[in-house]
Amino acid sequence: MSLETHVETLAAERLYDICDYYDAESLLTEDERRVLGRLRDFLDREAKPLLADYWERGEFPAQLARPLIDLDLMEPAELTVHGPARGIYQGFRIFELARTDASLATWYTAQAGLFRTAIRVGASAEQQAEWMPRVVDFSLKGVFSLTEPEHGSDIAGGLSSTARRDGDSWVLHGAKRWIGGASTADVLAVFARDVADGQVKAFLVDREAAGVTLEKIHRKTSLRMMQNAHITFNGVRVPESMRLHNVNSFKDVAAMLRVMRSDVAWIAAGIQAGAFEAALRYVRERQQFGRPLGSFQLVQEKLARMLGNVTASVALVVRLTEQQARGVYRDQDSALAKMQCCLAMRATVALARELAGGNGITLESDVARFHADAEAVYSYEGTHEINALIVGRALTGESAFAR
Ligand SMILES: Cc1cc2nc3c(=O)[nH]c(=O)nc-3n(C[C@H](O)[C@H](O)[C@H](O)COP(=O)(O)OP(=O)(O)OC[C@H]3O[C@@H](n4cnc5c(N)ncnc54)[C@H](O)[C@@H]3O)c2cc1C
Repeated sequence: MSLETHVETLAAERLYDICDYYDAESLLTEDERRVLGRLRDFLDREAKPLLADYWERGEFPAQLARPLIDLDLMEPAELTVHGPARGIYQGFRIFELARTDASLATWYTAQAGLFRTAIRVGASAEQQAEWMPRVVDFSLKGVFSLTEPEHGSDIAGGLSSTARRDGDSWVLHGAKRWIGGASTADVLAVFARDVADGQVKAFLVDREAAGVTLEKIHRKTSLRMMQNAHITFNGVRVPESMRLHNVNSFKDVAAMLRVMRSDVAWIAAGIQAGAFEAALRYVRERQQFGRPLGSFQLVQEKLARMLGNVTASVALVVRLTEQQARGVYRDQDSALAKMQCCLAMRATVALARELAGGNGITLESDVARFHADAEAVYSYEGTHEINALIVGRALTGESAFAR
């Protein structure tokens, strides 16, 4: 069977043809596949034609936000079981978005992953009952504001934004950097150190509260469509009712990061799928020496390596997600998946770019966008080194972060 016929046969039967080689999607129910199919259809029709232009301009295509929200992807009404049992569906939702565009996946995950996790882990039962429905339908849009200008990897010990209790409210001072989606959020989930006990606490701060200043980070060379902000807090008053009552130390923040890192591992898998598919299309069409590039042995070796990377990454995130659905959450598990999928991602997008030759550095070929965007994903949610150190600590019992 020719490669072309093979791809077409698979496509007729399955949602993911060649990029899910060992058929992880068979773990999805028919209903879940239908929801993901709707997402695919929307991305193909409405999003793809906009991507190169908006990427070049460094703007998010705001017209996609409402229709994406209306697809009801977070807790689709037609799926009867919700929460962690839907983990594989939630993973493939991220995969599908990232397979189209890393900024779209990051934008969606800022709400459905980061902010929602902050509420799920950090809010009290009463707060969750009030906020969670509004998080799910995006009527309360939020972002996760942890990183600071002077503290990225060492945020656990270094976090220097402060919170001082004053009667029924708190007063916040400090700065946050790189906060994704902040300019369109209603509230910012802000982590600050309580000056009274030295512990990290979390607050939902109105984006327009007095004393909050947002500046867009310009001139990015990666994830150009996603907007990141530098935010300063100068005596910002937050009522006690807007403090996340279950966050009482950095340990509670670490519990959030465990969940978020697995989402980013899914993003890294999805980016690889998108880059691999784009490169495969390219080498089947482009002719050199009178033959398609895909007919050359050295090109096929690269394709096989890319497929190996994608397949291994999907297997890793699927198994991690199954573990989490069973209630097993360990720092080292999601750190390992984020680290390994990002290593594979960097290799895969570089091969895709290489296979497209000179055209691989223009936005006309999808591979250039994936290649550039992968760099930000490689660094956010814990850099390679920090995730490796988390795994190393688990393996040896020795913490080597500050040596
Ligand atoms: C596009 C983008 C979106 C982001 N979105 C958000 C967001 O929404 N919310 C948020 O809170 N944050 C966000 N971040 C911040 C992100 O999590 C940080 O960039 C990341 O944690 C790394 O911190 P840093 O950039 O300050 O790098 P640094 O900590 O300064 O690290 C620089 C380099 O030094 C290495 N290094 C640091 N310490 C060690 C060590 N002990 N041993 C060995 N090597 C070390 C790092 O691995 C890295 O390679 C985002 C970042 C980007 C780029």
